[in-house]
Amino acid sequence: MEKVISGKALADKIKEDLKVKAKGFHKNHGRPCGLAVVLVGNDCASEIYVNNKVKACETVGIKSMVYHIESTIDQDELCAVIDRLNDDVAVDGILVQLPLPSHINEKKIIEMITPDKDVDGFGKLTHHKPCTALACLELVKSVCPDITGKHAVVVGRSHIVGRPTAKLLLEHDCTVTVTHLKTVNLGLHTKMADILVVAAGHKHLITRDMVKPGAIVIDVGINRIDGKLYGDVDFDNVMDIVSHITPVPGGVGPMTIAMLLANTLGFNSLEFEGIRKVKLLKGGK
Ligand code: NAD
Repeated sequence: MEKVISGKALADKIKEDLKVKAKGFHKNHGRPCGLAVVLVGNDCASEIYVNNKVKACETVGIKSMVYHIESTIDQDELCAVIDRLNDDVAVDGILVQLPLPSHINEKKIIEMITPDKDVDGFGKLTHHKPCTALACLELVKSVCPDITGKHAVVVGRSHIVGRPTAKLLLEHDCTVTVTHLKTVNLGLHTKMADILVVAAGHKHLITRDMVKPGAIVIDVGINRIDGKLYGDVDFDNVMDIVSHITPVPGGVGPMTIAMLLANTLGFNSLEFEGIRKVKLLKGGK
């Protein structure tokens, strides 16, 4: 089996499936499924991420509506935008591209999104699982369908990646260790991982001596240096000892977008085996 897990190839397969679901949604609702994307300010990386999401929506037949707002918007005005989108029946999902400018209370904005429309899965009451965590799980399961009892080590404890990924792996019966910036002797922990998920935002933090031979390594990190993208794992030097590894780019990124589209269409519990069972929550048959 190929060692490098192509997130792009898996995402393309999933998007083919979602195309059919999007058609079904359109037929059943008399309108396309709609995703509202709120982008505040002119952060370059955020604009790239939003463009990629818009393109992916087009591919599967989800109608994207981008609200590109001046960075000077105040909290109340942004709350009013979210209110309007919550009430808009043509909007099935709302994505607020993070980070927001520092004068905006990010948590308050995210918590305002109706749980059903919170397709990023970041709010407390959201009906959706966070997309990057889902992406990591699906990538692992694409090469190891039964992860029961595996020791998963997650590097990073952020609310948008590390924690939800650890929670999801725990829900799938892994034994989970969460490590972070204050962890003493990181390598001691990562070296014990059957499944190693790295989301630290630190180029090549994980070196060969920190990886257990035969491990499945999921590299979430995106580090843009001099216009080039690097992961958190020293890919070239760990490659020969791992059983599988995701590349950067082309690994977790495209799968995160595929999971966003799935959440928007209401396919909340995606279990792709090839394209695995899909649990239908709303939309077409
Ligand atoms: P964050 O900065 O919010 O959190 C980073 C976490 O890593 C923190 O919990 C911190 O304690 C830990 N950490 C940092 N340096 C460490 C070190 N030296 N040793 C141990 N732990 C360390 O970042 P985030 O939002 O969780 O994102 C992490 C990375 O994943 C970033 O590179 C980000 O760009 C990337 N990301 C990728 C996707 C995707 O779709 N591929 C999605 C979201 C985030």
